[in-house]
Amino acid sequence: MIRCDDFIKFVKELYNKEEVFLHEPVFAGREKEYLADCIDSTFVSSVGAYVDRFETEVARCTGSKYAIATVNGTAALHVSLLIAGVRREDEVITQPVTFVATCNAIKYCGSEPIFVDVDRETFGMSPESLLTFLRKNAVLKNGSVYNKATGKRIRACLPVHVFGHPCRIDEIVDICSNYGIVVVEDSAEALGSFFKNKHAGTFGKLGVLSFNGNKIITTGGGGAILTDDESLAQRARHLTKTAKVPHPYEYFHDEVGFNYRMPNINAALGLAQLEQLDKFLKIKRELAKKYEGFFYTMEGIKFAKEPKVARSNYWLNAVFFKSEQEKIEFLETTNRYKVHTRPVWTLMYKLPMYESCFRVETPESEEIERKVVNLPSGVVL
Ligand SMILES: *Cc1c(COP(=O)(O)O)cnc(C)c1O
Repeated sequence: MIRCDDFIKFVKELYNKEEVFLHEPVFAGREKEYLADCIDSTFVSSVGAYVDRFETEVARCTGSKYAIATVNGTAALHVSLLIAGVRREDEVITQPVTFVATCNAIKYCGSEPIFVDVDRETFGMSPESLLTFLRKNAVLKNGSVYNKATGKRIRACLPVHVFGHPCRIDEIVDICSNYGIVVVEDSAEALGSFFKNKHAGTFGKLGVLSFNGNKIITTGGGGAILTDDESLAQRARHLTKTAKVPHPYEYFHDEVGFNYRMPNINAALGLAQLEQLDKFLKIKRELAKKYEGFFYTMEGIKFAKEPKVARSNYWLNAVFFKSEQEKIEFLETTNRYKVHTRPVWTLMYKLPMYESCFRVETPESEEIERKVVNLPSGVVL
């Protein structure tokens, strides 16, 4: 039996609120001060000191050599895939359990997502499923890997650190490097998450963060590209700034670029948020402990703990139900009483634009879709 009333009471008391959303932002630092300063400076748009400061701080706290701030995480994914060499008609390996932006960014490059399964423990790409797929389907032609089933070139692999839980990224990088496939990490949800003491998003050639309003820190809308490679960092900077060749007054663009640079005013908000990251992480990990304790004694629900050898930011807490029916009852009751819980995203290959994409058997993804619910996870003040 799922005791929904106990849960509803527990959450409302925890947040001391009558309505609890899934992930509300918290502004408890120098946000207003930095925003006022930014407005006073008149540099609110694509140039300004806050962007540089924000990028420096993002690089510092992730241990990435370079961080390039963008208008959102989707734009960061798009540019990362382009500079990873993804071209029209290529394929990019990803996972069905993710937010739609992962696949959309692949499509923006004119390429196709293809799907391997995830791990139940991490929600991220399963190295076993990836390796099985490559052993069965990958063929080498003129130094490139092709998918035997579709005849298309497999250019990149885009694993996702779901709900802030790091996936088994070291194994994924190893496998891909044996096949000459570039790894780009969708670490949009994983700022503050570490795998074997290294920050999520710093294992692949490139990694991506999001600072959307529902993420662990927010810039309103925003994202970042992480890389240790100087030439990729330069490419990313160039492409996100309309490919304008630097000059005191002349406008010359040497290719089709994008207006993807993060505005200074968003960076001002972000800098104030970033100063609170350690505090947010501490509070979120304490919240996860409380949920874990709450569900420990509850028959039929299992709390999703951080994977082994990982330190998760617990962006969204998640639980497994025994059956789909119990999951639905829980979703209905909690939402009716204004405790906002939600199911996992619909699997990507069930969306009309991705239903014809190539995929292997994905029983774990199906199981997660059937049984997992996300719980309110915003920072409790
Ligand atoms: C939030 C998110 C994105 C996209 O970020 P935006 O800033 O909203 O564009 C991409 N991938 C995943 C997994 C996300 O959760």
